[in-house]
Amino acid sequence: MKVIPELCDICGTCVAVCPVDAITVSEFRVDIDNEICINCLNCLKVCPAKAIEEGE
Ligand code: SF4
Ligand code: SF4
Repeated sequence: MKVIPELCDICGTCVAVCPVDAITVSEFRVDIDNEICINCLNCLKVCPAKAIEEGE
């Protein structure tokens, strides 16, 4: 999973729905740790800005 920084408005919605806490949010950016991510797609579904996309 990856966050498209240009679209993300750092609302924090994705962080709340991640079951494994793979998403970290700072003042300036949101990051997904793909070592932890289990590809549940919760974040992608809830992102109001469509700023998360599925990687390979
Ligand atoms: S796909 Fe699921 S596990 Fe991976 S970052 Fe998004 S919410 Fe978390
Ligand atoms: S839900 Fe989308 S817009 Fe909000 S912080 Fe996550 S990636 Fe960014």
